[in-house]
Amino acid sequence: MYGSLKEECGVFGAQQFNGSSVFPYIYWGLRAQNHRGHQSHGMITYDGDFHTYKALDLVPKIKKADFQNWLRKLPGFAAIGNIRYTTSGGTDEQSLINGTQPFLVETEKAKLAVSFNGNLVNHFKLRNQFEESAPQFCYECDVELIGRKLVMELAKKGDLASSVKSCMNEIEGAFSVIGLTRNGELFGFKDPYGIKPLCCGNSPDDTIRAVSSETVGLNISGFEYDFELEPGEFISATKDGFVREQLVPCKRRALCAFEFAYFARPDSRLGNKFVYEVREEFGRNLAKEYGEFIKDADVIISLPETGDDVALGLHEATGLRWERAVRRHRYVTERAFILLPEERYATIDRKLNILGSKISGKKVAVTEDSIVRGDTTTVVIEKLRRMGAKKVYMFITFPRIIGPCFYGIDMATYGELIGSRHRPEEIAEIIGADAVNYQSIGAFVKSTGLRKDELCLGCITGKYPTPLAQKMADEMREKFENGYKETGRIYEVSSII
Ligand code: SF4
Repeated sequence: MYGSLKEECGVFGAQQFNGSSVFPYIYWGLRAQNHRGHQSHGMITYDGDFHTYKALDLVPKIKKADFQNWLRKLPGFAAIGNIRYTTSGGTDEQSLINGTQPFLVETEKAKLAVSFNGNLVNHFKLRNQFEESAPQFCYECDVELIGRKLVMELAKKGDLASSVKSCMNEIEGAFSVIGLTRNGELFGFKDPYGIKPLCCGNSPDDTIRAVSSETVGLNISGFEYDFELEPGEFISATKDGFVREQLVPCKRRALCAFEFAYFARPDSRLGNKFVYEVREEFGRNLAKEYGEFIKDADVIISLPETGDDVALGLHEATGLRWERAVRRHRYVTERAFILLPEERYATIDRKLNILGSKISGKKVAVTEDSIVRGDTTTVVIEKLRRMGAKKVYMFITFPRIIGPCFYGIDMATYGELIGSRHRPEEIAEIIGADAVNYQSIGAFVKSTGLRKDELCLGCITGKYPTPLAQKMADEMREKFENGYKETGRIYEVSSII
């Protein structure tokens, strides 16, 4: 989908035990993960005091001559950072800045900096709690709720691990959190379902500990991968390594399955595999499941970049030529603004170059990660046809999306999902394809190397791992089927909170 769907966030944190500045590692750790959120980014460093920086858009390039200024602006031996795409809070410029993480949360007795990836299912309950106890409280982002809950507990208990435990027991949703204590000690924790990835690593000389959403955040600075946090686990960085504590039992593993198809970078590790290896396997599965369409096709093309590894697998399994006829404009990352009706293809043309002469007169098998709303895919297919494609067979790696996500992915209503209302044959007709071939759930799961009960498959099965999300989904599904018009994100309009 080349960027039409958004993850909520990515995080990176590090602590140096040799006294030097940690800023370069945070900076590169965030840049390596900018695909996880590009509406805004921020960092908090610690050198005895906290220093905060927040800005909109991608993590910027830093000129060599400016580097010393950045080091002066963000000094310290410990830091946390965040890249964000909002799925909660306002989306005007000021709200985006206000909601940019990390957050510094302070009471008379406690102070913490926090940054997270995820989404809270019961955020209204928590929000009401704070709005009643502190009328000046102004909600901008879910991490604020986690931060406030933590400092409140910390003020009562005086111990960070027990405070985190209370959060884990009271908060429902996806939350992979990193933070700094008032003394600049780095810590992290993951919700008891482990919905979002979070891993730890060390510098080769063992003087820096780092925590990252994806393993690429570690790779970019040459750090060695140490471990993936367990669901319900709390970690703190020390000079001698990470201290690990299982605070609450893992209720049921539920790593977001969509990470494999779309969100994670292909060179990140998830489970025991690199993501690109899993995607190649998806291609081989699609060849087995839809052999008759491959036999009829003249050529495979892929929509970059998530479709590329899939196309390789499909090509290897069938011998059908993979024509690299769709190329990404490498330096165009922003959304295309469509100003005029005749600019119908702007969303594609400004990001992708499709070579018509390689498609004209051919029956094409197109590899793509998913179909969410169907609008972008419709325009791509229309363009392929105008370029002379005789037939367009879509090969989709993520099974049909039939329900919303409560855990931080930008699809929050039934109404917006083409797959919640239509079967594959109907979808093919609506988007103008000759066939839409979704990978089966069984094949998808097998390729990840994980078991079905270790993944969240909520949006493709309707079975959500957390209880409140399931209740809301059931309630909204019923209302939707009875003609209810959704007026906001499901967890904002549901009567169950
Ligand atoms: S509902 Fe879908 S997108 Fe959301 S966490 Fe689960 S698998 Fe991922």
